[in-house]
Amino acid sequence: MGKSALITGVTGQDGSYLAELLLGKGYTVHGLVRRSSSFNTERIDHIYQGPQEANRSFVLHHADLSDGVALVNLLRDLRPDEVYNLGAQSHVRVSFDAPLYTGDVTGLGSMRLLEAVRASGVETRIYQASSSEMFGATPPPQNEQTPFHPRSPYGCAKVYGYWATVNYREAYDMFAVNGILFNHESPRRGETFVTRKITRAVARIKAGLQDRLYLGNLDAVRDWGYAPEYVDAMWRMLQRDQPDDYVVATGEAATVRQFVETAFAHVDLDWAEYVRYDPKYERPSEVDALIGDASKAEELLGWKPSVRVDELARIMVDADRKQVEDQLAGVTVRIDR
Ligand code: NDP
Ligand code: GDP
Repeated sequence: MGKSALITGVTGQDGSYLAELLLGKGYTVHGLVRRSSSFNTERIDHIYQGPQEANRSFVLHHADLSDGVALVNLLRDLRPDEVYNLGAQSHVRVSFDAPLYTGDVTGLGSMRLLEAVRASGVETRIYQASSSEMFGATPPPQNEQTPFHPRSPYGCAKVYGYWATVNYREAYDMFAVNGILFNHESPRRGETFVTRKITRAVARIKAGLQDRLYLGNLDAVRDWGYAPEYVDAMWRMLQRDQPDDYVVATGEAATVRQFVETAFAHVDLDWAEYVRYDPKYERPSEVDALIGDASKAEELLGWKPSVRVDELARIMVDADRKQVEDQLAGVTVRIDR
């Protein structure tokens, strides 16, 4: 019998890559999908298996991180070997507009899932999607020993989820781990995160569909990696003998401005002609610089990233250009397929 896993946030960027990775390893993958009035499964449509299919290895379940009873029931019914908690209100800027909702889903949601594991009595290993946003104002380089100083309701909620995970490990001897992942992107990244906003705009400007790109702070420094490589680190954390916490990052820094330059240059455009400032995209408190030190992950997990920021920008621009071309040709578009 192969292993089984439950992924919350399976319809998101990371959830979709992780589902592919686990299916490729022979897992039966259960995905938690929240109810939406429109389709929210675009990132996993290509691996969808309908209820009529025999011996399904990919099964979706409706539930929500705000519904603790549904989580207990799901855990008790599925008894997965591994649980990956990737579900969240994951947008930092939005968390200032919806701080309580973000606290409920991103923070308390982690606690609900941990408590569901405990209450259901299921022997499982649990991964918590912690974030470099927890470091916030603490200057780089950041590693597992760096103090947290979150700068947004999202960062605060992730700190809560982090400590809830550590507490359940200590209190109940659970195999619960935190992956402290730095920003990671891909052609499946949500369209309102800065990298995807930029690469999508570059593709549309090149095709004559858009003539301006409005951005906020171009001086912020981030450590951007490639999402498919980062979900591999998540899996590795759950295969260790002992539960622990790990930073996952490339260790390389770039400003938003550098990302903009690389993306526009890739299609022979001068970014300064198209990019304009709009204070609307500033945050009430900013995270100036995140640069991770992932030497622990390299040493103990054997994990090392290979895609760096310039290549990442080019991968994303190429994928967005393909999507725009398909749209213009009237082809039904799926992200990066
Ligand atoms: P996405 O925003 O792409 O995906 C978030 C997922 O959570 C989606 O599947 C979303 O569903 C789901 N979700 C939202 N609200 C709820 C809810 N109430 N109940 C259940 N599910 C819900 O995020 P990423 O894939 O980029 O990130 C995965 C995780 O890693 C997140 O927890 C994020 O905060 C964290 N993280 C991400 C980093 C990054 O750079 N990408 C860095 C560090 C941490 P729907 O599709 O319906 O919206
Ligand atoms: P974050 O690191 O999780 O907040 O990821 P984002 O991709 O949302 O933002 C990365 C950085 O880009 C932050 O410092 C933002 O302030 C900055 N930024 C500048 N302009 C924009 C914009 O228009 N949208 C977003 N999302 N971020 C922007």
